[in-house]
Order: sequence, then C-alpha cells, then structure tokens
Amino acid sequence: MTSTTQGEQKFWLHVVLDVPLTGPFDYWHTGPVPVGQRVLVPFGRRKLVGIVVACPARPTYDQAKVRAIERVLDDMPPMPQDWIDLGRFAAQYYHRPLGEVLLPALPAPLRTPAAYTGKRSAGGPVARLKNRSQKKRPEPAVAPTPAPELTTDQQAALTQFRAAITQEAQQRFLLYGVTGSGKTEVYLRAALDVLKAGQQVLFLVPEINLTPQFELSLRQRLQDDERAYEIQVLHSGLAAGARLQSWLAAFEGQADVLLGTRLAIFTPMPRLGLIIVDEEHDSSYKQQDGLRYSARDLAVWRAPPKDIPVILGSATPSLESWAHAQRGHYQCLPLRTRASAVPLPTVHLLKTRAEPLSHGCSNALLQAIETRLQQQEQVLIFINRRGYAPVLRCGSCGWLSHCRRCSAYAVLHKGLRHYLQCHHCGDQWPVMRACPECGDPDLQPLGRGTQRLEEFLAQQFPQARVLRIDADSTRRKGQAEAYFAQVHAGEVDILVGTQMVSKGHDFKRLGLVGVLNADAALFAQDFRAPERLFAQLVQVAGRAGRHQQGAEVLVQTDYPEHEVYQALLAHDYERYAQAELATRESIGLPPFSYQALLTTEAKTLQEALDFLDQVRNDGLHWLQSQGITGVQLYDPVPLPIVRVADRERAQLLMECPSRAALQHFLTSWEPRLMQLAQSQRRSYVLEIDPLGI
Ligand SMILES: [Zn+2]
Ligand SMILES: [Zn+2]
Repeated sequence: MTSTTQGEQKFWLHVVLDVPLTGPFDYWHTGPVPVGQRVLVPFGRRKLVGIVVACPARPTYDQAKVRAIERVLDDMPPMPQDWIDLGRFAAQYYHRPLGEVLLPALPAPLRTPAAYTGKRSAGGPVARLKNRSQKKRPEPAVAPTPAPELTTDQQAALTQFRAAITQEAQQRFLLYGVTGSGKTEVYLRAALDVLKAGQQVLFLVPEINLTPQFELSLRQRLQDDERAYEIQVLHSGLAAGARLQSWLAAFEGQADVLLGTRLAIFTPMPRLGLIIVDEEHDSSYKQQDGLRYSARDLAVWRAPPKDIPVILGSATPSLESWAHAQRGHYQCLPLRTRASAVPLPTVHLLKTRAEPLSHGCSNALLQAIETRLQQQEQVLIFINRRGYAPVLRCGSCGWLSHCRRCSAYAVLHKGLRHYLQCHHCGDQWPVMRACPECGDPDLQPLGRGTQRLEEFLAQQFPQARVLRIDADSTRRKGQAEAYFAQVHAGEVDILVGTQMVSKGHDFKRLGLVGVLNADAALFAQDFRAPERLFAQLVQVAGRAGRHQQGAEVLVQTDYPEHEVYQALLAHDYERYAQAELATRESIGLPPFSYQALLTTEAKTLQEALDFLDQVRNDGLHWLQSQGITGVQLYDPVPLPIVRVADRERAQLLMECPSRAALQHFLTSWEPRLMQLAQSQRRSYVLEIDPLGI
C-alpha cells in the first residue's frame, strides 16, 4: 500500500531481521515489494539483510521516522509463503522473534550484507555461484544396484503406506523396525513412489557421518528407466558455497532428493512430497542453542497444510512417538524380523559387582575378545566416555584435576603432549609435573576413557589392529569417513568407540560387541537417561552379526536386574516402552505432560536463584490473575553442573498436562517476563520440550 508525500510514493513494508528484538520493523520503498523478498536495510548504523513479511497499509510507528530500504535483493525469487508459515509456527512455538528463526535458516551468503555490498560482491552470491557451477562437471553417474526382494514385513509396511497415501488417510507413519530389519529399503521404495509422481523427498539423518553411506544407497537406487534422480546433500560440515548450491537446487526444485541433518528441515522445497526422518529418537535432531527446535517435531508440523506424508523410523522410537502411534496419531508400520535370515545377536549380562577387573574389563570379556580374534572376526568395544581418564589424582594428598572455571573435573587426554581438558567449557592446559597442592610427582589417572582402553587393548592383544573412533580422533575433516572405510574394509580387528560408532553403520564381520560403563546412565538426574541408554544399547548391539550367525553382545553391569538390561536381553523394545510409559504416566512426566525450561546464569548461584524466584512469583501471579490452570512452576534449582566458564547456572521447570495451556500461558506471560529480565539486567533462555533436565 502507498502513501504519497510531495509526489514520492511510499510502499510500506514489514521486515524481519536477525536481531534479538521483537520485530517486524517498518521500512518503505519506492515500488511494491512482494512478501518473502529479501531486502538490504539500514538498521542503526549497520546494514542488514531482512525478509519482507507483510506490506501494510501504513506503518506501525511514526511515518516520518520510518527509513527507506537500501535495495531489493532480487537475485532470487521471494521466499515461498509455506516457508514463512513454517518459520512463523516455529517462532510462536519456541518463543523467538520471527527474524531470529527465518534469517538463520538461510544459507550464510544470502543473509550476509557484505555478500551484496563488499568490493567483490558484483552480481551477488547467487550469480557468482551459477557462473562457477556452469564450469563444473556434473556428478558422475553411479551404477544402479538391483532392488532386493522384500520381506513379508517390508511388503506389508509399503502396502499400508501406499493405501494411506492414495486414500488421503493418516499421513504420519512410525516405521518401527528392529535393527537389520531393512527400514532403509522401505524408505527407498516409498521415496521412489513419490519421485515417480514428480515430487521431491526430504531425507533427514541424525549425523553428518551417516550422510556418505546414505548418499551412496540413494544414488544406487533412486534411478528409473530414463534417469537418475538428482540428490543433494546439506549439513553444517559443508563449505558455505557448497551449502548454498545444495540449498538453491532444492529451492529451485531442480534437486529431487535433499539428504541432510536437522538444519535441512528449513529448506524450501516447492515440490515436496515426502519427509523421512531416520533414527527419529536421536537427540541430534534437537538444536541446543539459538532457536532450540526439534527437526523431528517440525517435520511432523511442516506436513499439515499440504498434507505431506512423513515417515519417522527407528528401532527404538522415542516414547513420545511411540505414544502417538499407540493413540492412533501415527500409523505404526512394524518390521519385527530381520531382512537377512540372520537372527539377532545373543545378549549376555556380565555381572561385575565384586568381580576383579583389569582396566575395567572382566575376564569373561577379555576371553571372548581373544576367541573372536582367533576366528578372524571384528570386535567393537563401546564406552561412552572420551579421553584417557576422566580425572587425574594425586596419590599422596588426594588432589583431583578440577576445572578452574567449572564445577567439573578436567579430563586427561594423551597426545604429542599430555593435557587436561574440561569437556564443559573447553579449556585445556598441559599436565603438571607434580601435584599443585603437595608437590608429589606421582599423579595417577583415575577411571578410563576410550584412549586408555585403546592403549590397554593394544597391549593385551598385540597382534590385533586396534582403532579408536570418537570426537577426538575424528576432529580432522574427512577423518571419520576414512576410519569407517577402514572398518568396513576389514582393516580393523578391535574398534573402540563412543556413541559415534553405534549409529547406522553396517560392519561386515562384527562378531562381538562389548559394552563398558553403561550403568552411569541408570542413575542420572535426567529422567530420559535410561531411555537414551536403552536406545544406545539396542543400536550398538544391532551392529553385531548383521551378516553372520553366532554374534554376541556382552554388557558389563552391576545391576543386571534393571529393566533396561532385562528388555535388552529379550530384544524387546515394546516391553521396555510399555513399562517406561507406565512409570512416566504415574508421575506425570512427558509424554503425559509438556515442559518448558527457563535457565539463567550469574556470577553467583544465589543471584541466579534469586532472579528465578522472582520469575516464578511473577509467573504464579500471572497464572492466578488470568485464571490459567494446570501449569506447574517448580522451585528454581541449580543445574547438575552448576558452574561453567565461571558462570553459575540455575533453572526453572514449567510443566502442564496440556500443551495448549502451557503455550497459552507462555505467550501471554512472555512480555512481562522480558520486562522483568530487563529491569533486573538478567538474560534467560526459554526452551520448549527440553531434552536434558
Ligand atoms: Zn598432592
Ligand atoms: Zn571448564
């Protein structure tokens, strides 16, 4: 809409920006600008890239003070309405300004002012990319692999999926399949259906490490008589240019399949016809800073207006998704048998209470390793703790290697030089020659991590080739890929690793999986820790014996009678889920309630707690004055690791059996909360559906 002042026509615009202020902001332009168009605008003394979200009849504030935009960034068509709607939904649900949702969802060059104003910005990033990619040779074709015969379960799952699609019935599916049951084959066939109908597929995987393996399967299989479908990959490990290229290919509808990690959920895809979320239970789908969204949940919510089918797949679905399936919100597609005739590995629980261990390994485990090595089989030892030892200790005075800035121990790492590192603030420093308290040079590592275990197993089995895969050993770009290739090629006899090795990889000769130090998760403060442990154990156990009989899994534990282990022994996820859901229901925990977590930090714990007390009182007052019932505000408590990087942290948990009531409370209360924080000069983080409490 327009206003005319002295012959100059003004078209008013609402623009969102990536700033921590509730927008949108008023601007004007001399001509009409469509909603979704990116624009370069002045903001204070800076220039920023923004997105037009509305063209109002008149500005919200004083017309005289409204500034003109710098220019329209028309090197790309406007962002589509459904993409803005998804952003609006995420902004509302996660309580963040719309600009802080939409702008970060764009590839960096498209939201960086310098990409349009700098000396070398001629034509903008899109034009530059297109010039460059014209010179690039196309991806070489991959020889197609024939489709395997489907199992009865796979066939049934596909039949149900196809029936639901054609009848436009339930479009949300939970593909629940035991490890090795061939979930991927169902994804591939469902994807082919959609591709043949001329639509796009968005395929989400939890980890960057899993993309090469899936990319190859997709390239081998997603071809039809005339052509191979175009597959693009999108994750945070890509260089900015490569990321922009994949994103553009999806946005322009040229890519048929987009394979990516959680951030790919925000990619606009004009012909989108199917979303697949593999390993849907994985906590990597939850972003842990900035906009704390769950890509899995957004996948489900992205679907409705266009009714895009979504397949969530897992051997150990999250209890949230399992409960949805039980209530009929998702259609469950079960795969209860393995695709190859090979049975699931046998699980044994090795009771370690009162058992002498050498370097954390029981005799039974060491003997089993020896036997497997003699049979030329691979062994995987799983321990979820990286580094050499979790703490360094002085034998004389009992000094322990505390981090100076956190309430946590610094972990001993060995390398060219040994160092201590805090896994919370990241600080590291060289190992001292003597105890800083008493001067005794006899400092001893206490406990063990992957490095120490690797060292011990190499000594114990000198003829074996031992490899360690964890966040430390794979820090270099491409290193994880190279290591996994070695494992797949059979060049490794004993693999020691953290949860990095448990996901999705298909080892050919793996005969034995050993699990160490799993009990820690049973008694964690976080009520989801046992659920995560169970999923991890099923995953890691599922790596064994996918191609040969007689594989076994040995779990060392002091508590073999625990439900987690008993269900693992029986390979019975459903039993575990039923038991755990019953417990959660009896005490009103998710998925029988919905949570939001408000955290703050301060110089002292008291300041943090005091602020949260005020917040809580204000919240209680608001609940009462508005007549909102059912929302609980718990007493503020310190975080399990209270001090990180010299800041003390506390949290306030909010809970309600109704998602709508909790959202209504938060939305109506938030302006007061922001005002309170401002007046106290405190900052806070509000997280919806937190995973770690
Ligand atoms: Zn000492
Ligand atoms: Zn620290």
